[in-house]
Amino acid sequence: MPLILVTNDDGIHAAGLATLAEALAELGEVWVIAPEREQSACGHALTLHRPVRPVEMGERRFAVNGTPSDCVNLGVLGFLPEPPVLVASGINHGGNLGDDVTYSGTVSASMEATLLGVPSIAVSLLDGGSLADAAAAARLVAMRVLVAGLPPKTLLNVNVPPQSPRGIRLARLGHRVYSDKIVEQRDPRGRSHYWLGGGEPVWAALEGTDMGAIHEGYVSVSPVQLDLTNHAAVARLADWGPALSAQLKGAGERRRQ
Ligand SMILES: [Mg+2]
Repeated sequence: MPLILVTNDDGIHAAGLATLAEALAELGEVWVIAPEREQSACGHALTLHRPVRPVEMGERRFAVNGTPSDCVNLGVLGFLPEPPVLVASGINHGGNLGDDVTYSGTVSASMEATLLGVPSIAVSLLDGGSLADAAAAARLVAMRVLVAGLPPKTLLNVNVPPQSPRGIRLARLGHRVYSDKIVEQRDPRGRSHYWLGGGEPVWAALEGTDMGAIHEGYVSVSPVQLDLTNHAAVARLADWGPALSAQLKGAGERRRQ
C-alpha cells in the first residue's frame, strides 16, 4: 500500500484530522503527524531554534511540538518508513479562501509538501458545514491526484461549503478587500492593546473565484502554484537592471571620491 501523510493546523485532537485520515484509509496506508496543539494562522513557519519531537499517540499517529510545516518535513524527509505519495492537510475547521491562504497553516503544510516534491491537497470546511461532505470531497480529489498527478510545483486548495455541496468546481483564488480596522482597547492600567482581524471579510468580484464557488454552494478546488515570480513583470521591468546598475556604480564612485 502506498503511504499517505495526513496533517493539519488545528492540532492532533481535531475532529477534522481524524475524519480526513479515515476518509483516505482506503487509498493507502495513512500516517498522521500533526501539531500537538492548535497552530491556525501560523503560516509557513518552521521550527529551527529548538528540536521537534514526535510523540506516539496511537498506531501510525504522532503529535509534534511544532508547526504543520515541521510535521511535513518530518514525514517526507525520513521519519516515516518510506516517503509518502500524497500529503493531505486538514480538514481545517473554517475556510481557507483567496488571499487568506498566505496565513493558513493548513495550506502551508501542502506548500511544504509541494516544495519537497510530494503531491498535496489542503482541505478546509466552512463554518457550519458537514465533515462527512468534506471527507467525501477530499477522498475524490485525493484519488484523482493519485491517478492523474499534479502539474509541477502545484497543490490543490479545496474548500467545502456550509451546505450540502451542489458539485465540485475548479476556481481561481479570490481577492480579499482589506476593510478591516484594528480594534483598540485599554487594559486596567490604561495601556492600549489592539485586536487584529476583526470584522467580516469583504471579497472583490466573485466570478470564477473560490469564494464565488462556495457562495453558490459548490466545493472549490484551486490549483495553487509555488513559483511566486511574476514572469510578465520580469520582462516588463527588464530595463530596470541596467538603469539601476548604472546608478549603483555612480553612487559607489561618489562614495570613493
Ligand atoms: Mg486551522
